[in-house]
Amino acid sequence: MKTSVTGYPRIGKDRELKFASEKFFKGELDEAGLLATAKSIREENLLTQKEAGITYISSNDFSFYDNVLDTAFLFNVIPQRYKDLGLSDLETYFAAARGYQGDKGNVKALAMKKWFNTNYHYIVPEIDDDTVISLTGTKPIDEYIEAKELGVETKVALIGPFTFLKLARFTGSKTASDVSSALTGEYVKLISALASKGAGFIEFDEPSLVKDLDASDIELFREIYGIILKNKNGIKIILQTYFGDIRDIYKEVTALDFDAVGLDFLEGRKTAELIKTYGFPEGKTLFAGLVNGKNIWRNDYKKTLAAIDKLGVSDVVLGTSCSLLHVPYTLRSETALPEDYSRHFAFAEEKLTELSEIASIAGTDYENSEVFKNNQKLFEGRKDSEDKEVRARVSGIKDEDYVRLPAFEEREKIQKEILNLPLFPTTTIGSFPQTQDVRKNRQEFKKGLKSREEYVKFNREKIAECIKLQEEIGLDVLVHGEFERNDMVEYFGENLNGYVFTQKAWVQSYGTRNVKPPIIWGDISRKAPITVEWSKYAASCTDKPVKGMLTGPVTILNWSFPREDISIKESILQIALAIRDEVLDLEANGIGIIQIDEAALREKLPLRKSDWYSEYLDFAIPAFRLVHSKVKPGTQIHTHMCYSEFTDIIPAIDAMDADVITFEASRSDLQILDSLKANNFKTEVGPGVYDIHSPRVPSVEEIVTALTKMRAKIEDTKLWVNPDCGLKTRGNEETVRSLKNLVAAAKQIRG
Ligand code: GLN
Ligand code: ZN
Repeated sequence: MKTSVTGYPRIGKDRELKFASEKFFKGELDEAGLLATAKSIREENLLTQKEAGITYISSNDFSFYDNVLDTAFLFNVIPQRYKDLGLSDLETYFAAARGYQGDKGNVKALAMKKWFNTNYHYIVPEIDDDTVISLTGTKPIDEYIEAKELGVETKVALIGPFTFLKLARFTGSKTASDVSSALTGEYVKLISALASKGAGFIEFDEPSLVKDLDASDIELFREIYGIILKNKNGIKIILQTYFGDIRDIYKEVTALDFDAVGLDFLEGRKTAELIKTYGFPEGKTLFAGLVNGKNIWRNDYKKTLAAIDKLGVSDVVLGTSCSLLHVPYTLRSETALPEDYSRHFAFAEEKLTELSEIASIAGTDYENSEVFKNNQKLFEGRKDSEDKEVRARVSGIKDEDYVRLPAFEEREKIQKEILNLPLFPTTTIGSFPQTQDVRKNRQEFKKGLKSREEYVKFNREKIAECIKLQEEIGLDVLVHGEFERNDMVEYFGENLNGYVFTQKAWVQSYGTRNVKPPIIWGDISRKAPITVEWSKYAASCTDKPVKGMLTGPVTILNWSFPREDISIKESILQIALAIRDEVLDLEANGIGIIQIDEAALREKLPLRKSDWYSEYLDFAIPAFRLVHSKVKPGTQIHTHMCYSEFTDIIPAIDAMDADVITFEASRSDLQILDSLKANNFKTEVGPGVYDIHSPRVPSVEEIVTALTKMRAKIEDTKLWVNPDCGLKTRGNEETVRSLKNLVAAAKQIRG
């Protein structure tokens, strides 16, 4: 059996791309240096896959920032304001991704959104009425040739035109159907250019097909591919889907002249059923996504081989369920992970072995093979994963544990009296810049080079400084700065029982930002109070209110690699009980405002609306309430969310029953405000007034303008003023300037 990989991680085993890009941004590395790093990452990736014996390896899966942005640049979908900067192509690309502030001008970045149900983020292409869609880039062609010269014949992976149009934002009067034929025409030119270079396969990635589709979507898809498939130029076309099943368009897809269709059998709950009901056409190849591209557990060959046996399709290629972009590079880097644990995991490189092994025994009398037997042994028992006490606590949760009393309106009055904050209170989201010294302190402590005492002393000094700085800036609700945290999820994971950690298991989150999700291994409980000492100390440094800072259960789960042996719901409830203990301890220690971040609330939201509540929100939202339901009426609970569409889940967010919510809004031009108003949102809100993902310093006027727009939709008594996310990735200098402008803007509108 042949094998296929949709895409490979591209940050480099040791995050080489991140470090090289950051040097480039700072002017410490020139363009040629950055290009060389990128090339060597691509080459290593290709050769690793080739050596593992993978049949269909992708080229063009590399990106300096994001593949959707690459696609936009490939077809000249570049807003004029970035072109006007007059920068080099690569710098223009980064300006669109990250914003630009310098001697050539001052522009915000394009919007960024979550890539389907993953923690990867794509840059939203912007199409206005003047956009001239035209094949001006050569990236897929260059990378195809580069691979070929290395001796690797690849399939060229492209984001398909349908998905591209579905993800783009139309800022003028045109819609997707107005530009689809122009875009399709340019894809056709690309196909012919690739054909002239000898390419044999193109993979069109169309994950948008797994969402709910209506008749006009189906029509758009047929229109686009009707043209593309008439212009194959001898190239075989693979239609690749992932993150779900394509129930709304399966019949149409299989009726079209694709040479191969890639389907996801793991997240696609109905994929097998669709094939059974409607059949799979003879003469076409099925790329069966059966090796998990999103999670890190070993593949159970028994299940996978049984699924292949049941397909009844004659031409099957074994593939990954989606790009391996979402898993770390290799277990070989995990030198500190005991074998008892690591033997249960497979990262990208190990997944290549799984693909090859399964393919080598599929269709044979595999049950007697060594490969099969060795794999089955891995599933024979797992150390330390069950905790009876935790299980009992979860089953003892009662309905009233999910309800906070008194109701919001009454609490709001009580809290206004106790806190006595000015109108438009100013605050931040929690973290302050994680400067070199802060990181060094943590690392030295971790490595045992610093005693706990020295470590704590340093952090206390930082906290005291941070409090003083916030007082000087004039903020109303202060934070301790989160200097003890590497990452908002890993930090809590380290302080909870049931987690396993890695050293180098980085996964790209957006651009040069990577995360290292911890692994939920067993039942979760809290070892001891986690944040109380830091928050108490911060509060002792000031008379102003200090917000305690926690990560919520849904985000902790969503940014970890979850277990697959118990349900997500069960894991979330276990975590909720642990965080609830922390909330109550903070309150008991005099912390009157507690923020419980749910940055990743939306992450596991099913892609189909019909499944939203029944499959997810019906347990995720109550789990959040479970965390704070027992605090006193006067304790103000904040929550924070970022980078995703919230507009359509506003009622669910209100049902979290927090007292205040802050969220990312500045990049998406405050579209969310209408939805808040339409839904009569009760929770007080702080829609971010500037984008912290960019080094740009917002001016006072700009913040006042944003606030004025907000005031048109949100009552003055409910509006908070804050940046759109934590400040840890920013530098000190820009942070202070930005926050001063923020406070000045708040004062101006108070006046
Ligand atoms: N409190 C966290 C911080 O400020 C929130 C981070 C996030 O939303 N991603 O860093
Ligand atoms: Zn955030």
